[in-house]
Amino acid sequence: MINLANRVQTLTPSTTLAITAKANELKAQGIDVIGLGAGEPDYNTPANILEAAYQSMLEGKTKYTPAGGLPALKEAIINKLQRDQQLNYSPKEVMVGIGAKHVLYTLFQVLLNEGDEVIIPIPYWVSYPEQVKLAQGVPVYIETTASQEYKISPQQLRESITDRTRAIILNTPSNPTGMIYSKKELEALAEICREFDILIVSDEIYEKLIYGDVKHTSIATLSEDARNRTILVNGVSKSHSMTGWRIGYAAGEASLIKAMTDLASHSTSNPVTTSQYAAIEAYNGPQDAVKEMRQAFEERLNVIFPKVQGIPGFTVLRPQGAFYLLPDVSEAAEKTGYSSVDDFATALLTEANVAVIPGSGFGAPSTIRLSYATSLDTLTEAVKRIHQFVTSKW
Ligand code: PLP
Repeated sequence: MINLANRVQTLTPSTTLAITAKANELKAQGIDVIGLGAGEPDYNTPANILEAAYQSMLEGKTKYTPAGGLPALKEAIINKLQRDQQLNYSPKEVMVGIGAKHVLYTLFQVLLNEGDEVIIPIPYWVSYPEQVKLAQGVPVYIETTASQEYKISPQQLRESITDRTRAIILNTPSNPTGMIYSKKELEALAEICREFDILIVSDEIYEKLIYGDVKHTSIATLSEDARNRTILVNGVSKSHSMTGWRIGYAAGEASLIKAMTDLASHSTSNPVTTSQYAAIEAYNGPQDAVKEMRQAFEERLNVIFPKVQGIPGFTVLRPQGAFYLLPDVSEAAEKTGYSSVDDFATALLTEANVAVIPGSGFGAPSTIRLSYATSLDTLTEAVKRIHQFVTSKW
């Protein structure tokens, strides 16, 4: 047994990936498991993007690139931010990394000193607290409830600020809640961040997946001050069904971007070259596939939401974005004889053969997360199984 570094002693593996691995294990044994754990669109990457990647390889563009991304990709991102959000950035204010996940990791590494606090609303995306801790930072959580649509209030933000607060992470649309902060809500939060001089990490990876008549607002668009204190994080994974290509980016203050790029130059060298060419096409090429996928997710949501709502002991908010449902299932777990929602989720996998992610990984232990990034038939069958499982044990 090798003695590991202190920094990894409390590191927990990603729950999302762990459940997916368990489900795959059961599948390999021939068991008909339905996976609702996935955090990725079920579509293939659009053909024009595949074609651009292939062409770039044929043209010999298979070498190292600048650490922070190809100039042409930075330009495509800058144009995208201008087109979609009327935000202006220069190439020095943009850094491309190995997916939004690694961009965030790099950000916390260059931002935090030991003991620096980062405010993280609950429920959170699994990697935020771990990434903050790996950078010797301290996650400071804000609890939210379904009645406040899992969004923090200005009052809560104020109360959680100390003289060690460096940043707050806002994820809108949110994984796992699917909730979206309105412009007005963001204005109130941005004002407090200005007052206390706090940086805003704005994770907008689900920006393109929004339903109904809600709108996505980037907090960086609210004022010059908000723009300057925001590090906007996004990428092609969810919008263009490109999870495996690993391209994400940060846009923000130049000195921070430079530090992130310098760190990348020693850790990754550069994001995969072929993926960068693919991402250039993703941003510069036609966006029809993005719209079609969004439309398909909304149709699935419309079908699946009432069915999940109808499962006894499930209480669920209708999500406004992303592709997850986060029902509170504490009543169902209790009535079916499980002492925790984690145990209930395990039983769903082993007995009903439906893989869901227990909400404990998101700091919300009374919930489970169901991904609807899968076909309608599969979803319908999965929800039928869960329904039957609950009623048979009730
Ligand atoms: N942020 C959130 C909220 C996510 O759900 C994910 C992926 O699941 C990411 C960031 C990371 O995306 P990627 O690293 O694929 O760009």
